[in-house]
Amino acid sequence: MPPSASRLAAIVESWFTKHQRPLLWRSGYDPWFVWVSEVMLQQTRMEVVLRYYATFMRRFPAVEALAAASEDDVLAAWSGLGYYRRARMLREGAQNVVERFGGRIPSTAEELLTISGIGRYTAGAISSIAFGRHAPIVDGNVARIISRLRGIDEPVGSPALMRAAWIEEERLIAAAKSPRDFNQGLMELGALVCKPSNPDCPSCPLKKQCVAFATERTALLPRSKEKPATRAMIVPLYLITDAKRRVLMRRESGALMRSMFHLPHGDTSLLGGVTIDVRRGELLGTFRHTITNRRIEFQLFAADPTGSVRDAGDEYTWIDPRELARIPHPSYVAKALAMAAGLQSKPCAGG
Ligand code: SF4
Repeated sequence: MPPSASRLAAIVESWFTKHQRPLLWRSGYDPWFVWVSEVMLQQTRMEVVLRYYATFMRRFPAVEALAAASEDDVLAAWSGLGYYRRARMLREGAQNVVERFGGRIPSTAEELLTISGIGRYTAGAISSIAFGRHAPIVDGNVARIISRLRGIDEPVGSPALMRAAWIEEERLIAAAKSPRDFNQGLMELGALVCKPSNPDCPSCPLKKQCVAFATERTALLPRSKEKPATRAMIVPLYLITDAKRRVLMRRESGALMRSMFHLPHGDTSLLGGVTIDVRRGELLGTFRHTITNRRIEFQLFAADPTGSVRDAGDEYTWIDPRELARIPHPSYVAKALAMAAGLQSKPCAGG
């Protein structure tokens, strides 16, 4: 017999009211603020989101502002958060809201699901957190808690686990007095207490109801799945400079980091299909960076173009590094330019 849904919901809601973190989108629960936070948090850690969220919301304080912005402006403001498709879809979704709902973000999960970029999880999150509706949500955190709580022995992220988690969430949310507090409470528990490894069971409000805790299987549930192999790569980057500026190139095709400005580089398969002919000079330094499952060692070389950069085509452009925040770029570009600036500012030996 599963524990009573209303008892479980009440425990989670009460725990949340005492332990919630003060996050910007929790003051007022404006639907636009909640929507953006949920999209940013989908594939990015909280501490990274918190570095970008406030600036992004100052730039786009309402759904209309993002709908009216150019894709370049949106990608530039998103730079550093990664998974740039999310930013494009958010802009498309904002345009849907302006065009089809007169700028009013709808409150039901059914209506929200008709908006570009909003899937079942995000629809449930906006509907429950911003509008207080009884809409279920399941993400990795919620699925993990439910797997442990109910002793569901299925692999992380598997369709079987997600199906079971949605069914249990529907049962629980229907019994919640405050869907906003209950759904956020489950996610907060997953982030702070019922973590992927070493869950802090002694301080968990659900320990008396938890099957994994009672059967000493907290380290075994949910079952881990095999990780895709990480690919190690070495990618040369070319730093072409004049007195103040650097050459960047824009990539217009491919699924990964499209429309972003990159440093000219030597591996077309990784960062795009365009390269620049250069005469490679001194190695300035190396740094490591991870993009999805690729562990990359970037090698930064001073370089000269073998032809005129202007003649090489529109995809190449001179940029003053102080202007970098204005243009969309992946975070390895900022790392490389910061490394180059650090080298320049070092005093010469004996000087
Ligand atoms: S008792 Fe432990 S395993 Fe069970 S829900 Fe709480 S933190 Fe997770």
